[in-house]
Amino acid sequence: MKTVVTESPAEASRFIRDGGIVAFPTETVYGLGADVFNEFSIAKVFAAKERPADNPLIAHVARVSQIERLAGEVPLAALKLIERFFPGPLTLVLPKADEVPPIATAGLETIGVRMPGDPLTREFLSACSSPVVAPSANISGKPSPTTWQAVLEDLDGRIDCVLKGEPSQHGLESTVVDCTSDTPIVLRPGAITLEQLREIITETAPYSGDESGEARSPGMKHKHYSPRANVALGEIDEAGKVSLLQAQAFSDDPSECAFIGIHSPTEEFALEKIVGTLEEYARELFEFFRQCDRVGIATVICESVEEKGIGVAVMDRIRRAARR
Ligand code: AMP
Ligand code: MG
Repeated sequence: MKTVVTESPAEASRFIRDGGIVAFPTETVYGLGADVFNEFSIAKVFAAKERPADNPLIAHVARVSQIERLAGEVPLAALKLIERFFPGPLTLVLPKADEVPPIATAGLETIGVRMPGDPLTREFLSACSSPVVAPSANISGKPSPTTWQAVLEDLDGRIDCVLKGEPSQHGLESTVVDCTSDTPIVLRPGAITLEQLREIITETAPYSGDESGEARSPGMKHKHYSPRANVALGEIDEAGKVSLLQAQAFSDDPSECAFIGIHSPTEEFALEKIVGTLEEYARELFEFFRQCDRVGIATVICESVEEKGIGVAVMDRIRRAARR
């Protein structure tokens, strides 16, 4: 299959309407979309990504009114979160409407719904006539793509079209909040933080990366975000020396290692990325993983950061990437 690369949201949307699959930019990461009501197209998304069949997709809407056809009911808590955070990097898990084919939600009775804020994404979604289900536009298990070039690295020849846009603003997948019970529960941390959610609904329960959290969101149990290189969590002492947080059985020879973090190490690494803020850490992390793979780095050392605000999401992605 030839993959068409276009800057035109209208052209990209024609592929969706014709039953094709299209990668498109959003403010979180690039997504791989199909018409939510076309189960054949959705099957192509799972095949192109080699995604496990039990990993549900998120439905993306251009307008709040489209949620009616996706969700059987919108609980009060969800309405409040929609009012405050839509459009934006937040996915709400709601009871699924019967019309949505089971393949979209991996057989779950719930559906994740998000309204992206990126203007190009909005233009594309508006032109698609139906909501678009989309997981991240990478081969399953790899770091999510934050540029159109990274999408092609994984999916060139496997998908119909890539809508070319800017690098993703946040760089990490959306915050996922389960709104099917009275207390909203954060299933996946992201750019919308627990602190922000609690300003609207005080009882919002924090993310727990343990098995109870993973059971509610089946996709989270799968291997995620991993470059070919090993990923290790590290700390920097006052002298600027890096140490690994767990004793690990792989290379810590700086010439084979890369480093990403907020402090500058004294040792020379083969590749280094020093970020100024946690937001920048989030934005750069996945692209840095991919850069490391392009040059054959053995181990990527990621500086551990405080788990506050978006630091929770950054540490979640690093820990998952470090799992083997
Ligand atoms: P991706 O866009 O590739 O990050 O995948 C979407 C992720 O959103 C899944 O792996 C789940 O963790 C989460 N998700 C989507 N739909 C649901 C749902 N109905 N219930 C719980 N979690 C969901
Ligand atoms: Mg993904």
